[in-house]
Amino acid sequence: MAKGLLIVYAGASGVGKGTIMKQLLNSDSNFRLSVSATTRAPRPGEIDGVHYSFVTKDEFQKLINNDGLLEYANYCGNFYGTPRKAVYDMLDAGIDVFLEIEIKGFLQIKEKYPECVTIFLLPPSIDELERRLVGRGTEEYDVIKKRLQAAKEELTYADQFDYTVINDDVNRATKEVLDIISNIKKERNKEN
Ligand code: 5GP
Repeated sequence: MAKGLLIVYAGASGVGKGTIMKQLLNSDSNFRLSVSATTRAPRPGEIDGVHYSFVTKDEFQKLINNDGLLEYANYCGNFYGTPRKAVYDMLDAGIDVFLEIEIKGFLQIKEKYPECVTIFLLPPSIDELERRLVGRGTEEYDVIKKRLQAAKEELTYADQFDYTVINDDVNRATKEVLDIISNIKKERNKEN
């Protein structure tokens, strides 16, 4: 059986990654989103084991020590990491796996898994990103400021991705991501 695609799906906080991800997952039953481990506190409505595995700093350190993470990073003071085994098991089963991760994680995956496909979601503008971050109201203003700063830094990496997609409209951007993946699959099938 052909291995699944590993798709790194990145973009600044507030750019709309989550909304587009939901649509992507609904549109193809062969897509799964990897559930990361994090030391960040759950936001209201977030479920342990569904949105993230919420762990303590000690538990996260154990995952690192046991080589249980494919990549990990500290982002704005919290740790986030991708579970190695769960992802490899899905890929071996032919499932296409999305990693919704930040830039430091993207750089590690590119190194360790060069056949991955990398997609960066861009906001229409930084002003629009700030408006969305303030509008969703899930963070305090000092956290928003940190995330905006991180977003500006992340934007400088956009050209290192295989594809960039502007989230000017959720349906249009979702379709663009779907088209990218379907074209890659066609190409890879031809090669095999
Ligand atoms: P949030 O706190 O908004 O859920 O996530 C903050 C940032 O961490 C986002 O850019 C998100 O994509 C990223 N992130 C989530 N899970 C992981 C992970 O497993 N590894 C890395 N490197 N980044 C992650």
